[in-house]
Amino acid sequence: MAELFYDDDADLSIIQGRKVAVLGYGSQGHAHALSLRDSGVDVRVGLHEGSSSKVRAEEQGLRVVTPAEAAAEADVIMILVPDPIQARVYAESVKDNLKDGDALFFGHGLNIRYGFIKPPAGVDVCMVAPKGPGHLVRRQFEEGRGVPCIAAVEQDATGGAFALTLSYAKAIGGTRAGVIKTTFTEETETDLFGEQAVLCGGASALVKAGFETLVEAGYQPEIAYFECLHELKLIVDLMYEGGLEKMRWSVSETAEWGDYVTGPRIVNDATKAEMKKVLAEIQDGTFAKEWMAEYANGLPRYNEYKKQDGDHLIESTGKELRKLMSWVDDK
Ligand code: NDP
Ligand code: MG
Ligand code: MG
Repeated sequence: MAELFYDDDADLSIIQGRKVAVLGYGSQGHAHALSLRDSGVDVRVGLHEGSSSKVRAEEQGLRVVTPAEAAAEADVIMILVPDPIQARVYAESVKDNLKDGDALFFGHGLNIRYGFIKPPAGVDVCMVAPKGPGHLVRRQFEEGRGVPCIAAVEQDATGGAFALTLSYAKAIGGTRAGVIKTTFTEETETDLFGEQAVLCGGASALVKAGFETLVEAGYQPEIAYFECLHELKLIVDLMYEGGLEKMRWSVSETAEWGDYVTGPRIVNDATKAEMKKVLAEIQDGTFAKEWMAEYANGLPRYNEYKKQDGDHLIESTGKELRKLMSWVDDK
C-alpha cells in the first residue's frame, strides 16, 4: 500500500526557513508561488525576458526576476517551465547558481528520470507533483483545502530532503488532502503511460474511431458527435465520482450489459499487448528521446499531427454543435 502523509507529518517551518525560487508562472507555477507566499514562505518568481506571465505575477504581488537571478538568490529552486525546455533553462540559469545544500524541485520527473538534467551530488533533488491542474491547486488552497500530491526524493544530499519535500507540499495545501510517496521513476513512467495509453492518446483514438465508424455507415455526423464525444463527459464524471460502479449504477441496464459484452471486444488482448510495448518504450527511454529530438527539430511531425486532427470532421461538427449549448465554454 502507498505511504500517505498529512499536515501533522509535515513541518511548515522548514520551507519557511528557506528562500524559494519558482521558475515559470503557468498552470503550476502561479499556484505554487502564490500559495507558498500565503504560507509565509520567502518566494520570488523567475521568468525569461518577454514572458507574457510577468505582468500577471507582478499584479498578484510577487517579485519577478530573471531565472538566473531567482536561482542565485534562492536555496530551493522549483522548475515549473514546460518539460521540453527545462534542460535548457537549467543549463543557462540554474546550474551555475547551485550551491551544496540547495534543493532542486520539480513538478514532474521527466528530465531527471531520463538524465536530461544531471544535478551535482551536493544538491537535494525533490518532486512535489499535485494530481490536478494548477488552477484547482490554487483554488483549493484558497478555500482551505488541498489537492493530493505525490512526492519523491531522487537525491538526498542533506539528509533532510524528504522532510523539506513534505514541508513544501504542506505550503501549497497538498498535505491537507494527502501526499503519496513515490519515486521519480514511478511518477514519470506512469504519467507518460497514462496520458498516452488512456487519457489523451487512448481516449481520443477511441472517440475518433467510434465517430468514423458511425459516419462511414451513413449516420449523421452530428448524431455521431453526441454519441461518441459529447456524452463521454457524463460517463467520465460518474467514474470520477464513484468509479466504474457508480457509472454502471447510473446508466441503463442495456448500456451496462453492452459495456460488459462489447468493451472487451474493443479493448482486447491485442490492445493490451500494444500497451505493454508502449510502456516498454517509455521505460527504456525511447519515447523521451524521440520527443526531445522532435522538439529540438522544430516540431515538424507534431505540427503535422495537429493539422491532421484539426481538419477531422469531428472537430468542425463539434464547433457547430457546441454553439447550441450555452453552458459549454468553447474557448
Ligand atoms: P505552463 O506551460 O502552464 O507554464 C510554463 C511557464 O513557464 C509559463 O509561465 C512560461 O511563461 C514560463 N516559461 C517559458 N519559458 C521560460 C523560460 N525560459 N524561463 C522561465 N520561464 C519560462 O506549464 P505547466 O504549469 O503546465 O507545467 C510546469 C511543470 O509542471 C511541468 O513539469 C509539468 O509536467 C508539471 N505539471 C503540470 C501539471 C498541469 O496541470 N499543467 C500537473 C502536474 C505537473 P510565458 O508563458 O510567459 O512564456
Ligand atoms: Mg504528463
Ligand atoms: Mg446513448
